[in-house]
Amino acid sequence: MAVERVTPEKIRCDACPVMCFIAEGKAGACDRYANHNGDLVRLDALTIIENTRHKLVPFLKDSSAEDWNGDIIQGNRPFVTAVGAGTTYPDYKPAPFIVSQEIDGIDMVTVVTEGIFSYCGVKVKIDTDRHIGHERDVVRVGGEPVGHVMTSEYGSKMLSLGGVEHLTAGSKKEGRVTCDALLRLCNREPVEMVIGDEDPPTTVVVEAGKPPVVNGVEEKLMRVGCGSATIGMFPKQWVGHVDEVVVVDDHITGVLSEHQTGKMLDVPPTGIKIKGRRSTPGRYFQVARPGTGWGGTDIEDPLTILGPFNPKIAWPGLSLLMVSTTGEQYGYFELDADLVPRAAAIPARLKDSANLIAENCEPSVCSVLFMGGAGGSLRAGVTENPVRLTRSVKESLTFVSCGGAEAYVWPGGGITVMVDVIDMPTGSFGYVPTPALVAPIEFTMRVADYGTLGGHMTEIKQLSSLVSDDLRKVAQVESQPDPMDRTNYRWAKERR
Ligand code: SF4
Repeated sequence: MAVERVTPEKIRCDACPVMCFIAEGKAGACDRYANHNGDLVRLDALTIIENTRHKLVPFLKDSSAEDWNGDIIQGNRPFVTAVGAGTTYPDYKPAPFIVSQEIDGIDMVTVVTEGIFSYCGVKVKIDTDRHIGHERDVVRVGGEPVGHVMTSEYGSKMLSLGGVEHLTAGSKKEGRVTCDALLRLCNREPVEMVIGDEDPPTTVVVEAGKPPVVNGVEEKLMRVGCGSATIGMFPKQWVGHVDEVVVVDDHITGVLSEHQTGKMLDVPPTGIKIKGRRSTPGRYFQVARPGTGWGGTDIEDPLTILGPFNPKIAWPGLSLLMVSTTGEQYGYFELDADLVPRAAAIPARLKDSANLIAENCEPSVCSVLFMGGAGGSLRAGVTENPVRLTRSVKESLTFVSCGGAEAYVWPGGGITVMVDVIDMPTGSFGYVPTPALVAPIEFTMRVADYGTLGGHMTEIKQLSSLVSDDLRKVAQVESQPDPMDRTNYRWAKERR
């Protein structure tokens, strides 16, 4: 990186378009670079993942450089991530680190950069049935729009936040607030969001890996399934012990006696009447409005979704269990002489069935997936012929990771990646005030393939040259593949 001396005290950082002048002892606008005695230094340590699955000898800080001769065969497989690696700008410059090591007799190379992503965002999955906003509702942080509610998935609400429209196309404040919210979410910090324009709007606190907090209440359980699925899963808890079961759900409310499950198990009709739109037997849509009550509806009293029982079918004493899709709410009723449901003490066996539903629910968590496209500086930092990198990724000759975590590469054009921030080292993300998010990205491939795609071959360094006390070591995340494992690559599959 070029360092321009402006005054005896100030140097100029050229790691991003902001081009800060940094005084002695100070940091630049992003807090990533600083002037230390006239030298431009990256403030965070380069992060190495120690792959303990292959670990046979200590590495780096635990041993002296003399002890370790770079022989990977006898040692572990340290993987150089882009976290703390720094950024090159403008695009044509080679990536900050292009590191080679031999893996099982094959020379591999990893090209690492902290990419500046002006086009990026996060997809947030919130495991809850509770209503947090309608599809397309605006999500605001600090009063600024930062994204919107998108299509719900099974048992989860989804948000799409950030993106170039919010980072660059709105006001300066909108861009700054959006960038800050993305940064905090990606670095696993809590962010409070206000969703929609209803009065009052919904407030949600999202933190990666933690339960969502909806309107001040921490969510506990993700539903076991929709109301219809719940009827299908647990009928043996009920048949012979209760005459009718209703599983209340904002999406599909299930009714045991009418459902195919009840038919198969010879449950007789009960004359129950459900308000809402009947889809198929025993499956009802729109029994209430969305809310934070039973099964993601706005109801606290389940009887409000019932019409009068059919007097030609129902009978006094008929027993009825109503339960939510998480088993957290339940009620037991018996029809009186006028066929009106009256609350009664719930039999232990039926209470156990509600507990069984709850037991089968997974803990509710927020998932934050960073999503961005590898643009100019990233691809040109790898090769002088950027489209060849794109093709190499698509042909499974190059493995893409972010902070060592496997990145899902979207089909179609470009290198558009998505990665779970929980799988990345802590503090992986930074920002620059353009505004844009700074995220680590690594491209790993055979050295031979790197040469074929026009890589910066003269910039390749051996891993052993990085041995330093300043490295930060983190353990391999158990669920993540080793980026250098041959099974990631097409050539290994072709050899089988
Ligand atoms: S914002 Fe950060 S990376 Fe950009 S020029 Fe300033 S110090 Fe360097």
